[in-house]
Order: sequence, then structure tokens, then C-alpha cells
Amino acid sequence: NFLQAIPVDQIRYNEQGLVPAIVQDYLDGTVLMMAWMNAESLQKTLETGQTWFWSRSRSQFWHKGETSGHLQHVRSIRYDCDSDALLIGVEQIGDIACHTGERSCFHQVDGMVNAPPADTLSQVFEVICDRRDNPTLESYTCKLLAGGDNKILKKIGEEAAEVVMACKDDDPDAIASEVADLLYHTLVAIAHHNVDLRSVYRKLQERR
Ligand code: AMP
Ligand code: ZN
Ligand code: ZN
Ligand code: ZN
Repeated sequence: NFLQAIPVDQIRYNEQGLVPAIVQDYLDGTVLMMAWMNAESLQKTLETGQTWFWSRSRSQFWHKGETSGHLQHVRSIRYDCDSDALLIGVEQIGDIACHTGERSCFHQVDGMVNAPPADTLSQVFEVICDRRDNPTLESYTCKLLAGGDNKILKKIGEEAAEVVMACKDDDPDAIASEVADLLYHTLVAIAHHNVDLRSVYRKLQERR
């Protein structure tokens, strides 16, 4: 059990006996929240496989999601170079970590609500979904989506063939370009079919 590999007594807690825990979505890397743990809450986290923090305002254990239902199932835990910070990869139940109802606590930019960046593929997918939901005439993505499966799937076939050619040429830059094209068009197809990229990520994680 990977959780057992965290040496609870070797973590360097601060004067209050606390260590900051950064919680990250295990699928797309989005930083969801930061909260504090003490040795006991870390131990509870390891034992239960769900996140337990220490609430400084209430001076009590805080089992994340106990009242909201937004539990966090722990997929990985690591600590930093000098053992004074934790990074916890979780499956976020309900896809909401913040008490405001936002997915991530880090959604504020200049007082505006703005989701923090996930990985590059997710960012591109978000733009594609935005084009799908707010169509504009000039956009290539909108033209593809308007053409439906006929247009999108033809492009996927062409780009797949270009990936094959680039690999046969053993040309690293061409391979990168063509794989990028193929991934983009594949994202358009899954957006067109209202499939969430995260469900694709989940399949990949299940196969590990
Ligand atoms: P929950 O743990 O999700 O059931 O929420 C219980 C209470 O914990 C909420 O009413 C908030 O006061 C607090 N809370 C929940 N999520 C967060 C968070 N991400 N950051 C800070 N406080 C939170
Ligand atoms: Zn450190
Ligand atoms: Zn929050
Ligand atoms: Zn291409």
C-alpha cells in the first residue's frame, strides 16, 4: 500500500504541529485546495484513504466532504524535499473541492471567478467546448463542429495517416506536429459527442 510509505513521524510539522497539504486532482493535475494536517489527521488519511485535515478555526479534525458529500479518495501522497509540505493526489467526489461550489479553491483572479489551469490537453478541450457552446463563424473549430461527424472523422483519418508518415520518416518535429493535430481533432470529436475528457483520463488511469 503506497499510503503506508509516508513516514508520518518524519514529516516536519510547524510550531503548531501542522503541515500544509496541497490537494491535486489525480486525473488532470488541477490544484484543488490547500489545507492543514497534523500527524493524527495524516495518520487518519493514510488509514482511511480519504482526506482528513485539521481545522485551525474550529480546532478539530475535518473529514473533507463529511457534510457536503464532496469526499476525496486519496490516489497518491508525496512530501517535498525538506519534508515540510504534502502533495496529495485525489479523486474528487462531485468534482467540487471548494465550499463555494467551485471545483477549485484557486478560482479567484482579480476578484473574478476563473478556473485554474489543468494540463494542456484539458485547456485545449475547454476552448473546444466553449466554441461548441458559443459558436462563432470565423473559428476553424466551429466549422469542424458544424460539419459534424462527416467532417470531423475524415480529419481524424487524415491526421492519423500523417502521424504514420511522420513516424516512418522518423522526424521528431513532424511527429510532434502531427500528433498534436490528431489529438486536437480527436478532442473535437469527443466534444461533438458530449463526452468528457476526464472520462477518457479515467479509462487511462484504470488501465495502469
Ligand atoms: P465539507 O468538508 O466539504 O463537508 O465542508 C464542511 C465545511 O468545511 C464547510 O462548511 C466549510 O466551512 C469547510 N470547507 C469545505 N471545503 C473547504 C475548502 N476547500 N477550503 C476551506 N474550507 C472548506
Ligand atoms: Zn519544503
Ligand atoms: Zn475554497
Ligand atoms: Zn496534420
